[in-house]
Amino acid sequence: MKYLDIDKFASVINCMDGRTQLPVLEWIIENYDIDYPDMITEAGPIKIIAENKNKTLIEAIKYRLDISVNKHHSKHIFVVAHYDCAGNPEMKQTQLKQLKKALKRIQKWDYKVEEIVGLWVGKNWKVKPVKRIVMPHKK
Ligand SMILES: [Zn+2]
Repeated sequence: MKYLDIDKFASVINCMDGRTQLPVLEWIIENYDIDYPDMITEAGPIKIIAENKNKTLIEAIKYRLDISVNKHHSKHIFVVAHYDCAGNPEMKQTQLKQLKKALKRIQKWDYKVEEIVGLWVGKNWKVKPVKRIVMPHKK
């Protein structure tokens, strides 16, 4: 099966928090040549991925990443952490450590993407990139 607008997708592992959705979508669309960010949401996803304990949720995240990368040909995986997260009620400094750990874990999953980018959504709901891992699959 063919999908239209190939190479216009991205994979976004975001929190389920409604406050983070539009800021993250808008930041990605403004800063990348991407029209369709696939949203993979969990409550505090960086905690889930960094801890790597809840295998059911990890598999559910990977199931959706598989579709986004392999069927939609996404070349970018964004991972989001944010201020005032109910699913992961940690201070910013702790969250940034979890975010970096989550990026490294996703790097090991070895998806054929160009990069994995960690984003922080702050108190003002502004999005800031905090870390970028360039993958060897980059053209
Ligand atoms: Zn959250």
